[in-house]
Amino acid sequence: MKNEDLLKIAKKFGTPTYVYDASKIESQYKRLTSSFKEVKNLRINYAVKALSNISILKYIKNLGAGIDTVSVQEVILGLKAGFDPDKIIYTPNGVSVKEIEKVAEMGVNINIDNLNVLEQFGNLNPNVPICIRINPHVMAGGNNKISVGHIDSKFGISIHQIPLLLRIIQNTNIKVNGIHMHTGSDILDIEVFIHAAEILFDAASKFEDLDFIDFGSGFKVPYSTGDNETNIEELGEKLSKRFNEFCKEYGKDLTLAFEPGKFLVSEAGSFLCSVNSIKQTTSTVFAQVDSGFNHFVRPMMYGSNHDIINISNPNDSERFYSVVGYICETDTFANNKRISRINEYDVLCFKNAGAYCFTMASNYNSRYKPSEILFFNNKPFEIRKRETIEDILKNQVVIDI
Ligand SMILES: *Cc1c(COP(=O)(O)O)cnc(C)c1O
Repeated sequence: MKNEDLLKIAKKFGTPTYVYDASKIESQYKRLTSSFKEVKNLRINYAVKALSNISILKYIKNLGAGIDTVSVQEVILGLKAGFDPDKIIYTPNGVSVKEIEKVAEMGVNINIDNLNVLEQFGNLNPNVPICIRINPHVMAGGNNKISVGHIDSKFGISIHQIPLLLRIIQNTNIKVNGIHMHTGSDILDIEVFIHAAEILFDAASKFEDLDFIDFGSGFKVPYSTGDNETNIEELGEKLSKRFNEFCKEYGKDLTLAFEPGKFLVSEAGSFLCSVNSIKQTTSTVFAQVDSGFNHFVRPMMYGSNHDIINISNPNDSERFYSVVGYICETDTFANNKRISRINEYDVLCFKNAGAYCFTMASNYNSRYKPSEILFFNNKPFEIRKRETIEDILKNQVVIDI
């Protein structure tokens, strides 16, 4: 999106606000599907937790994707957005068997990653086909917080427990229709991914009734100019070839599934906030914006580095700024970053603000959550209004005291 379009949106809808460029979501979707064009049955299940606005879900549905969900609430959102239940997969971790049964009743595909839960669920619902989430124990991912495939991770059923898994399946008579893995985010080494895939193929060969193999996600997107990213085209070429070979050995054209979140929506998003004040200390120039980790927590939680552009004054001489928020807590978005000269009331644009940004926003400091705008066919649509004090007070009960 052009700076002028973003600036117009900031003027019209106010700040702080999230803006999503629909055309970028579409081009990422097409990039992924064309990388795997050699695979007969490909299924992209968008990971709802990255960005769950219902208009975004509808848009992604129209592209032809299914969805990956992690809670019953995400499933309900998906159904409300118009997804058929069989286009939804539910991959919970640490939820109750009751919740899994509730979702199964809606006709959604169930992915289980706990032997104990599998046994309980299977005994109660022997007719519901189940996908099994395997932990291949391949160390991958950008950092420890987002890497979920290691040996002491809480996710997945260990490959070392497959004999036990097979016994439970035999005893309960469950039909296993899919095998799944999701090793973590920010995978850069294609060979590591292929290695994990081989482990998954090996596990898959032990099940006779599979319909699909789900390779999860973990595609890394570039966060700033020159940053590295997963080479999707290379992955597509190598994995497709191997997948097609496996299908031959298996004797059936299985579906190859992925469940990208970040890859589809991260780069489509921009976060716009306004500069409240400039504060010069003995060592630092702070640009203080009308936001904080209540709206945008990734830099503080994951140490992620987002490009920040002064869209009100993009071509002035650059200076070093520490961009911080207005929360009474340390909420540093960037330390000593080179940004075109900032004045009060300028609008700053944080890049890569599509994934795990709005969905992690809170009302800390009793601030309103930002609004959300979808830029579609060159027009901005407000897809979430800014909150008001009524939203903060909703569900609070004032008692006589
Ligand atoms: C979060 C998650 C994803 C999406 O991961 P990204 O890094 O955003 O692509 C996919 N599958 C599962 C099971 C997840 O929990």
